[in-house]
Parts: sequence; structure tokens; C-alpha cells
Amino acid sequence: MIYDNVASCIGNTPLVRLSRVFAGKSVTVLAKMELMNPGGSIKDRPAKYMLEMGIQAGTINPDSHIIESSSGNLAIALAMICKLKGLEFTAVVDPKISPANLKMLRLYGANVVTVTQKDENDGYLLTRINTVKQLLHSIPNAVWINQYANPDNWRSHYYGEAREILGQINHQIDYLIIGASTSGTLMGVSRCLKEVFPDMRVIAVDIVGSVLFGGKSAPREIPGIGASRVPELLSANEVDQVIYVDDYESAMGCRRLIAEEGIFAGGSSGSSISAIEKLLPEIPAGKCILTLLPDRGDRYLDLVYNEEWLELVRQRHFKHTPHTHEEIA
Ligand code: PMP
Repeated sequence: MIYDNVASCIGNTPLVRLSRVFAGKSVTVLAKMELMNPGGSIKDRPAKYMLEMGIQAGTINPDSHIIESSSGNLAIALAMICKLKGLEFTAVVDPKISPANLKMLRLYGANVVTVTQKDENDGYLLTRINTVKQLLHSIPNAVWINQYANPDNWRSHYYGEAREILGQINHQIDYLIIGASTSGTLMGVSRCLKEVFPDMRVIAVDIVGSVLFGGKSAPREIPGIGASRVPELLSANEVDQVIYVDDYESAMGCRRLIAEEGIFAGGSSGSSISAIEKLLPEIPAGKCILTLLPDRGDRYLDLVYNEEWLELVRQRHFKHTPHTHEEIA
């Protein structure tokens, strides 16, 4: 099989049984390897789908200039696919963008606009959105992808990894555990799988400091998971349970994935591993849990895989949860 270009290689990711991390537990844990997508993350799927649906609907044409507020995986995926489709792309980012992501965006040929002014919440979100709105006026044929509200975001996961999963398994899924930010993945995958497994429990993983499910806003460091506003796409009544993990627990999940399964994954993958750990005591024997590993570890070398950073978030973790086995040990 020869593909026309790398955008055609998006999807068809394998499912892997995590038999080492959860060895000795009488459950099956399956992980969809979204980190194997060509742009390095699960966000290749919504980037491609949102662009292609826009082209099909006529809202995006060859003269369009795509705009999005993202300094992470979606920006990289959009940069890659816009390049292939000959579309101009501008990413609106803030100073917290990692040097590697900034370099990658430029190498893919994206324009980068960096906002520097903080908003009233001491973050950059509102300034970024205002900048997007200004660019929509000043750039001819500008189109805002708006991943937090664009229904083609969740649909990309419904028709993408969820449909693939149904073709890959030959048994029931009892628990679906997914880290959320725009909630596109959570909404899309759960809606499709629920049609086949109506009793499946839908469990969201959120990071401490995110406000997605009513949590209190607080500093958090791992990008990709959590949000500082509630996205239009999130329909919280479709979620049965939310499990919170913090930066340290996410990092420890990542460390276990690489040490025990040989999987070098990003922060939100570790968040899901830690969330499954927390949930295991209440899961009956013989059940099947499905999760996704959204991106690779390369983009987290200065965070999750950096000893000094780990020590900082470890101290923060034990300050907030003082009585754990690990601290006593
Ligand atoms: N993990 C990673 C690494 C991500 O980049 C994202 C998207 N920000 C997510 C998880 C969450 O996906 P979604 O936006 O679909 O909720």
C-alpha cells in the first residue's frame, strides 16, 4: 500500500493490551495508540476532519487562511495538513509555548502570532481569543477553526478512532476512560461506543486545576489535558464519573508506561494510567477498560521526563495529599 501523502496515514492506530502496568489485576486494559499518528498525536484526526468538512461545506476554499488558538498538538496537526492542502495557517500562541513546538510550527510553514498580554484571569486564553477575532477582521478570507465549539471536532473521533475500535475488538467494553480538554475525544468516542455498549461507563479524566467539570482553577503544568473554560462541546450529563489526577500523578503514570510497557507517551496518557489505577479497586474482575494514549513523550522531555520538574510537582502533590502510602514509605 502506498499513500499519497502523510495526511492519508492518519488513523488506523493499533490497540495494545497493557498487561504489564496492570499485571496481577483481573481486568483487561486496552490502549489505542493515538501517539502513532504522523503529526505525533490524536489531534491529527480533528485537524484533518475539521478542514475537510469545511472544504466540503464550502466554508474553506483554496484562498482561505486558517486561524486557530493553539500552541500544542492541534496547531502542529493543522500546520502539517494546511501545508499539504496548500492553505495558509496562523497559530495564535502565548509565551508558554515550548521552544520545540514553536520551532516545529515554523518548520511546517505556519505563521505564529504570540500574544504577550495576560487577561483578567491571569492567563492568556481571553487575549488569545481576542487576537483571533482581530485577525478574522484583518486577514482576508480568514477562517477560525474554533476547536472548542466545532462539532466536527467530536465527529472526527466518532467516525475515527471509535469506529476503528469497534472493528478491532471482539468483546464488550465496560469502562471508557479518556482525558479531556476540548472534550471532543471524550464526546465523540463515547457517543459511538455507547450505541453498541449501552451499559459502558464513561469516565472523564481531568487534571487538578482545570475547570472542565466544575473544578477550582489552579496552576497546572501539563499541556493537552484540562481547560480553563468549559468548552461548548462538553455535554457533562453524558459523563458518568470524573477522576482527577494532578501533574505528579500524570508524570508517574508516564514513567510506568515507559518503564513497564516500553511506551514513551505524553502527559495525558499518564493521567489516564493514574486514573485507571485509582478506579481499579471498584472494578469487578473480568471487565474490559479502554483508554487512549494521545501523544508521544518527546514533547514532554522538559516536564514529565525531567527530574527537577518532577520533584517540584511531587512536593506540590504531597502538600495537598499528605497521607499516602508513598509518603509513609
Ligand atoms: N491529550 C493530549 C496530548 C492532547 O493534546 C489533547 C488535546 N488538547 C487531549 C489529550 C484532549 O483531547 P480533547 O481536546 O479532544 O478533549
